[in-house]
Amino acid sequence: MSEHEQEAELPILEVTNLSKHFSLGNWWKPAIFKAVNDVSFKLHKGEVLSVVGESGSGKSTLARLIARLSNPTEGRILLHGKDILAQEPRKASLAYRRQVQMIFQDPFGSLSPTHPIGYHIERPLQIHKLAQSKDLEREVATLLETVGLHPPADVAERYPFQMSGGQRQRVAIARALAVQPDIILADEPTSMLDVSIRMEVLNLIEKLKTERGIGFLYITHDLASARYVGDRTMVMYAGNVVEEGESCALMENPAHPYTQLLLASVPDPSSGLSTGETTAKAEGTRKPPNRDKGCPFASRCPMRMSICEEKMPRRTSLAANHFVRCHLHEADPPKPA
Ligand code: SF4
Repeated sequence: MSEHEQEAELPILEVTNLSKHFSLGNWWKPAIFKAVNDVSFKLHKGEVLSVVGESGSGKSTLARLIARLSNPTEGRILLHGKDILAQEPRKASLAYRRQVQMIFQDPFGSLSPTHPIGYHIERPLQIHKLAQSKDLEREVATLLETVGLHPPADVAERYPFQMSGGQRQRVAIARALAVQPDIILADEPTSMLDVSIRMEVLNLIEKLKTERGIGFLYITHDLASARYVGDRTMVMYAGNVVEEGESCALMENPAHPYTQLLLASVPDPSSGLSTGETTAKAEGTRKPPNRDKGCPFASRCPMRMSICEEKMPRRTSLAANHFVRCHLHEADPPKPA
């Protein structure tokens, strides 16, 4: 394998055993909330990794840890093979922020209402010294055109309140692109948009990964968009990754009972019912438990066994690039104590 091929094989981002725990309770009854627990994955150049799960599953906390908006309790974040937390234990450098950009769920709140669109795109170019003053206008126009906002001169003079939600999200993407990032963390970028314009943003992500080789962490609770845009999908529950695989294969053959439940909850237009009314159903509370031991899904799992209450399932390989954490799929599940 040539040096160039080896470089292409290397992930641009590698996350290993990343955790974020919060102390709750008080001194006589301490408790730990595991918002993100022992998460590992790789992201390659020009790849979209969808992260799905219900509210409270830890998806957004994971993105904030990688964006260095919050410090992890433990684990490693390797960017191009370099351990970022060892180099910058407290705060991300300007260089890291240039390489790893984040776009947020709320395109309304992520732009200042007092500045025109052109200003929002110019600022990162100035801060990161990526354009001279005389070139700013041209660079802003190019970025606005890249994200499909026309005519750029007119758009640059508008204020955020003069733009639709979809246009504002495009501005947020243009602002992220201004610094030529390697990775974009997209935290539910379409959830506040009308259905009719969600596809525009998804197609833009697809275009940017193909044409610019940007790696995307696409966070969503919408399985259809996760499958549409994601090369691979990672399913999270209560801070843990419970299943990961290539998007189509995973959604056609979900192995974890929680993934099956998520898919069964997608409305079926042919019957007018969710498929969940005829297939898998979860039991117990909808609020994800934060368990000290055993499978985090045990209180809701219709297939739980006695071992599930006691031992955390191991990461088990089902096929090439398809992993699950469930005792049902372990060749030699541990015996209950
Ligand atoms: Fe259900 Fe047990 Fe599998 Fe957890 S380990 S998902 S409780 S069967």
